[in-house]
Amino acid sequence: MNEFSLIKQYFQTSDNQRKDVLIGIGDDAAITQIPEGQLLATTTDTLLESVHFLKESQPSAIAHKAMAVNLSDLAAMGAEPAWINLSLSIPKADEIWLRAFSDKIKELTEYFSVQLIGGDTVKGSLAITITAQGFVPSDSTLTRSSAKPGDWVFVTGTLGDASAGLDILLGKLEAADPTHKHALVNRHYFPTPRILAGQTLRRLASSCIDVSDGLLQDMQHIVEASGVGVILHLDRLPISRALGSTVPHLDQALGYACTGGDDYELLFTVPEVHRVSVESAMASYNIPCTCIGQVTGANGKVDLRLDDKEYELPETLQRGYQHF
Ligand code: ADP
Ligand code: MG
Repeated sequence: MNEFSLIKQYFQTSDNQRKDVLIGIGDDAAITQIPEGQLLATTTDTLLESVHFLKESQPSAIAHKAMAVNLSDLAAMGAEPAWINLSLSIPKADEIWLRAFSDKIKELTEYFSVQLIGGDTVKGSLAITITAQGFVPSDSTLTRSSAKPGDWVFVTGTLGDASAGLDILLGKLEAADPTHKHALVNRHYFPTPRILAGQTLRRLASSCIDVSDGLLQDMQHIVEASGVGVILHLDRLPISRALGSTVPHLDQALGYACTGGDDYELLFTVPEVHRVSVESAMASYNIPCTCIGQVTGANGKVDLRLDDKEYELPETLQRGYQHF
């Protein structure tokens, strides 16, 4: 199978044609139309074998993660996803792998009403790069840089599950209960981008980021970009039943929740005037969200409290992900 028949067979589908795609896959470039009054948000993420996913990962899980991490970046900007580009480096044209991978891409593009509009296909070691684009109303961009002292710090969902799931797969953590084990491993393989939450936070949140590298590291990004400080109350961190009962020791559970990556929850700050609106909007969409702290004027610092006492995470548990 050559490159062109591969693209045709697996990626150039005729369904899911958005009206704003004038030219999609098949020409030298895609041509798309941005709606009036909207700005374009663009993000790219690359997934490498053994760095971002385990060698034994199923193609459907790899496709899911490649889509989810990019859509999560759009969510953190409050963007409505629209278009996807897929750059694929594969060692060989394995038809079973390609079928499973492309079926999952197709399933998720349909689910999120986005269209795959182009990409590139090359032979090489396994690497997947997705570029996702979406729209934000020009008067309501959501960034990392506008948190103000007094704002409340919130996070969606639960923290630490994905990295506990990874540790289970790596044999570093034991999960006696099969239901909890499944829940944690699933969160590692199939993260859910908080698209609806992100759009709900437009005009309400003062800053927002997605938790990809761990709560403390991503909180630090908001703190630095906004020139503020933050107090986090660790006793308020949302910890799932699956994580809490798999890791009964509090320090260890907090370690996962504070520094475990790949949860793809949204971490955001809300001015007092919008607090009730945010809580009721999230509740009306059934999106769990928890107030975990408050923004302070103490520049550049993330202070931790446990039961209102200063707390320091044991060094062995500090492990937010960094490539270099
Ligand atoms: P060119 O040589 O002009 O760069 P290619 O042969 O790489 O074009 O690609 C042909 C068409 O197929 C282009 O529209 C490109 O965007 C699309 N394409 C290539 N690979 C992929 C892929 N993995 N997923 C989606 N579209 C792809
Ligand atoms: Mg090309």
